[in-house]
Amino acid sequence: IKCVGILTSGGDAPGMNAAIRAVTRSAIYGGLKVKGIYRGYRGLITDEIQEFHTQNVSNIIQAGGTILKTARCKEFTTPEGRQLAYDNLKRHEIDALVVIGGDGSLTGARIFANEFNFPIIGLPGTIDNDLYGTDSTIGYDTALNTIMECVDKIRDTATSHERLFFIEVMGRDAGFLALNGAIASGAEAAIIPEISTEVDQLAELIQNGFRKSKNSSIVLVAESPVTGGAMGLAERVKNEYPGYDVRVSILGHLQRGGSPTACDRILASRMGAAAIDALLEEQRNVMIGIRNDEIVYVPFSKAIKNDKPINRELLDTLRRLSI
Ligand code: ADP
Repeated sequence: IKCVGILTSGGDAPGMNAAIRAVTRSAIYGGLKVKGIYRGYRGLITDEIQEFHTQNVSNIIQAGGTILKTARCKEFTTPEGRQLAYDNLKRHEIDALVVIGGDGSLTGARIFANEFNFPIIGLPGTIDNDLYGTDSTIGYDTALNTIMECVDKIRDTATSHERLFFIEVMGRDAGFLALNGAIASGAEAAIIPEISTEVDQLAELIQNGFRKSKNSSIVLVAESPVTGGAMGLAERVKNEYPGYDVRVSILGHLQRGGSPTACDRILASRMGAAAIDALLEEQRNVMIGIRNDEIVYVPFSKAIKNDKPINRELLDTLRRLSI
């Protein structure tokens, strides 16, 4: 391998820049050429590709977002689109790719890698923490900290009597942000998709959680059709438990922004360096993960397909601490 292309794809996450920097510098350190591909898979197809030197990634470790921009690209889901992408890679003499993105981006990477027998290493870049095989994804810690700060602020205003606050957080189909955000901010409960089919979390909350001893209750709700989202739950309370004063706050895209935390910068730096090691070791079609503080190679098929389990101990801790 002589030349590596890097791209960021799908939903952006804080720490992607730190990853771009780490991949670029490790590649150059290892004697490889680096090319930055703008706007994810779309830039591969529309040929937005530029050579990167060490100074292209100066002064970006602290910046949120991604300097390479990101996009969603329908064309890449078709064989014709992927052929165009492949042709451009060949023309630029790029012989391996590092793809930084979430579940969808790595699914695309896997298909492309198999179709053209092209070496690709994935880095888990998503605030949702929903990729299997790594303890944490790039951006998750920063989003968690942002959520914690927001909930602290909402709690300050949530002082009137018997007020029930539903705060909706991101996470796609996963409850990691909601559950850990709830523990970090001292919320009363988290409503998460992972256990939605097992228990009626709203009924349980009303029965045990919303106590007379407290002036207000804050509940973190994971966005997901399965939980009903904060709006859906508020509607249910209005219908099924009239008398409660319910408020809804949807944190939205602010969760994706901000300067990455130290944890995310370190995670992204280690993973970026590991991506180049993996390529030089002739690994392909793997996502870099960190488990128990050790770098691991997770086959794309495993990273994408498996549902990452929620740690039940956390649920129990939250329940115990909210009495
Ligand atoms: P994320 O990576 O954050 O999960 P998306 O699910 O939007 O984001 O996926 C990002 C991009 O990855 C898509 O716009 C598409 O170009 C590509 N992609 C996703 N799924 C596939 C697929 N099944 N085949 C090919 N490309 C895909």
